[in-house]
Amino acid sequence: MSSRRTLFAAISLSAFCLTAQAAELTPEALLEQAQAEQQAYLDTVQTLVAVDSGTGQQEGIAQVGGMLVERLEALGAEVQTSPATPSVGDNIVGTIKGKGTARFLLMVHYDTVFAPGTAAKRPFKVEGERAYGPGVADAKGGIAMILHSLELLKAQGFDDFGSVTVLFNPDEEMGSAGSKDKIAELARQHDYVFSYEPPDRDAVTTATNGINGVLLEVKGRSSHAGSAPEEGRNAVMELAHQLVQLKDLGDPAKGTTVNWTMIKGGEKRNIIPDSASAEADMRYSDITEYDRVLADGKKIVQTRLIDDTEVDFRIEKGRPPLADNPGSNALAKTAQALYGRIGKTIEPIAMRFGTDAGYAFVPGSDKPAVLETMGVVGAGLHSEDEYLELSSIAPRLYLTVAMIRDLSAGQGTP
Ligand SMILES: [Zn+2]
Repeated sequence: MSSRRTLFAAISLSAFCLTAQAAELTPEALLEQAQAEQQAYLDTVQTLVAVDSGTGQQEGIAQVGGMLVERLEALGAEVQTSPATPSVGDNIVGTIKGKGTARFLLMVHYDTVFAPGTAAKRPFKVEGERAYGPGVADAKGGIAMILHSLELLKAQGFDDFGSVTVLFNPDEEMGSAGSKDKIAELARQHDYVFSYEPPDRDAVTTATNGINGVLLEVKGRSSHAGSAPEEGRNAVMELAHQLVQLKDLGDPAKGTTVNWTMIKGGEKRNIIPDSASAEADMRYSDITEYDRVLADGKKIVQTRLIDDTEVDFRIEKGRPPLADNPGSNALAKTAQALYGRIGKTIEPIAMRFGTDAGYAFVPGSDKPAVLETMGVVGAGLHSEDEYLELSSIAPRLYLTVAMIRDLSAGQGTP
């Protein structure tokens, strides 16, 4: 039948689509689409939570990794995987190219803290306003947030970004030894980095703490405690003295904490110990505090209680901080403005945890701008009570979609 009419219908349909695209989608329309995506989002979370993927669990990590590769490919991403040596599993990188210039990196981890068998014992469930399950918020809810935001953008035919890169790493819960270099390398190739750890309320995080280990080692000389104690140099006594001297290494005004949490020394009650050691947990957000604490510590330990002992003070670097910086704060302002358009408020916060966002942050540079806790709102992380808030799913899907659309247009609202 009338091929002319079919052609006409086709043309008018595509003309309609073009108009619909050209006419900017309203915030309400974006939110409605996000609401319609909620069930699909929950299905994804359920599928991911059903497979235990504790850090280092070869089988579960490989299985979840395989699912993620498939999902990224279905979104049209070009996917590359590389072993996250020395950790178990792969770093999974998916890239979607657009026709614009802004480059986005969306990242989160797919390992959890839970042992094999946990998902079978405590399967995913929805109860009232919450969904429960191992890793449901940290960070499988974050993975689904990334995947379904990209689904929404794809359905909108939106490709005004230069590129969207997704990174899923398998070892965050054990310190990201096999992914930290990949994060740092990729971050430097992007304008914006969104990290999808879960916030405990409707918030985005502009600063996170760095975490270091502070190590103190004392060497003395052993001797019989009964027959020749004066021949010995008591390393435990010297350690005790040093710990008291070093108790105020933190700086509350700068948010730096140094807490001594472990000590070791002595093997037998009748021997003057020749060695002793201690470790402290250091948290900081001001980059210069690493050098300051190291210098102060080294100076303080010069003062000895016992002559002829040796004292070594050093710091083992862990996750660096996402320090308070203009780029992150500007992104938080954009998030606030976009949330305002759907009649909601979102809070910019600094948190005391350390996250992978620290590896993405480049001190002293305005690129990339990094924003943390773009994931789903949840709490009880690392515990049996871990949950995500159902009411946060749609607004936070909207947030990622609106941020990518807004920043791709070079707006950086407000
Ligand atoms: Zn996490």
